[in-house]
Amino acid sequence: MTPEEFRRHGHDLVDWIASYLSQDDRYPVLSRSRPGEIRAQLPVAPPQSGAPFDAIFADFERILLPGITHWNHPGFFAYFAISGSAPGVLAELLIGALNVQAMLWRTSPAATELEEVALGWLRQLLGLPAAFEGVIYDTASVASLHALAAAREAAVPDVRRAGLAGRDLPPCRVYASEQAHSSIDKAVMTLGLGQRALRHIEVDGRFRMRPAALQDAIADDRANGRTPLAVVATVGTTSTTSVDPVPEIADVCASEGVWLHVDAAYAGAAALVPETAGVMDGCGRADSLVTNPHKWLYTPFDLSAFYCRRMDMVRAAFALTPDYLSTPEAGQVRNLMDTGVQLGRRFRALKLWAVLRYFGASGLQKRLAEHMRLARLFAGWVDASEQFERLAPVPLGVVCFRARPAHLADAPETPAVDERLDLLNEQVLETVNASGEVFLSHTRIAGRFALRLAVGHIRTTERHVARAWELLQEAAALPKPRTARRGGRGAGQRGPR
Ligand SMILES: *Cc1c(COP(=O)(O)O)cnc(C)c1O
Repeated sequence: MTPEEFRRHGHDLVDWIASYLSQDDRYPVLSRSRPGEIRAQLPVAPPQSGAPFDAIFADFERILLPGITHWNHPGFFAYFAISGSAPGVLAELLIGALNVQAMLWRTSPAATELEEVALGWLRQLLGLPAAFEGVIYDTASVASLHALAAAREAAVPDVRRAGLAGRDLPPCRVYASEQAHSSIDKAVMTLGLGQRALRHIEVDGRFRMRPAALQDAIADDRANGRTPLAVVATVGTTSTTSVDPVPEIADVCASEGVWLHVDAAYAGAAALVPETAGVMDGCGRADSLVTNPHKWLYTPFDLSAFYCRRMDMVRAAFALTPDYLSTPEAGQVRNLMDTGVQLGRRFRALKLWAVLRYFGASGLQKRLAEHMRLARLFAGWVDASEQFERLAPVPLGVVCFRARPAHLADAPETPAVDERLDLLNEQVLETVNASGEVFLSHTRIAGRFALRLAVGHIRTTERHVARAWELLQEAAALPKPRTARRGGRGAGQRGPR
């Protein structure tokens, strides 16, 4: 592509992106594509000859965009709403242009050193002590895997060389609450500990790990010859954003000599807001912590920040330098390939740095506080409604609730009533999502199907939250078919007999 061509396509593309990021009614937020529909429009065989970029872009608009669910849409309230903010998108453009591969310090000194600086800034914003060294991974799942690999390195003799299999070792245990993220299960599976090694600790009425139950579980395991390897505390659980009592958990870990990892993937950002800074209480005593700027800090996916007091253990687990990667400056610099499985790594620090500089701490704080205000506002509407009820506290930006029509308001809490409410709420969710104006997701709380509204996108305003509430009320008021199929396509449509 000639520089002139690149300039023309680049300008067109930036114009398109600027419109895309400012028009919230142009596309349905949840894709209406049916399975296989996108694939069927694309050739099976690779192209023999090249095509001009105009043709590629035309296909993107015509074929691919209908198959996009718009995470960068202000009506996105599903899972955890995220933001590819404009400064972050521009930084991604530079990252792509430079195509830096930051495995070694010398393969781009700026990438390694900017990562240290940007993570140092974020560490201070989180209120973590300077003893924490940071490294960027793609996702929290990968960060937690590295944390538990480091804990395994610290607890199991010679594991790096000899592995776990075929050795006469006591079984290891990892502890996390019943509400912990599935990435912790995947980490113990990947590390060869087996999913059985993960012991789920019960939670209290507000979905927080019970430290006394943790203490009992560790004592029980010790009495049965098992080795406690690590405890994972969650700051902002995925279902309800509950916050485990980290200070008490840290006490248990300190007295037991067990690695404490904190999964603050979502809620770490709340540390920037004075009213919710308490979410990080006790986290400075952890051995490791992960938080995701790609979740609630307006940084384009993907960028996960991992902090560790004992990065030497991460390096002990992963550092390995073949001759062709050795460098004369090795003793004086950090080589980021030493702190993980991955050799090659993107220049992700550039987008975090751009986002932190563009908004500044006060800009970030203002937006986070507004998202929490909107969540509380919505929770207030739910609480005041006769048609809906709330199913969990709202400590941050997520509201869990369900429709409960007036004729069931005083119905006894029987499984039959719960099942009717589950069906009703599944239909409400389908109806609201079919509108194309908003997208919500669900969870299960104490066995009940719960609707879940997560406020976190940078362009979401009170207008969008109010519209979601309107659509929910309309959907809950629609007459429901008597024999609705589970997961059916919405109210008014008959299910199979
Ligand atoms: C989102 C989330 C994760 C997973 O994050 P990825 O970056 O997608 O791996 C893990 N734990 C918690 C608590 C989360 O909210």
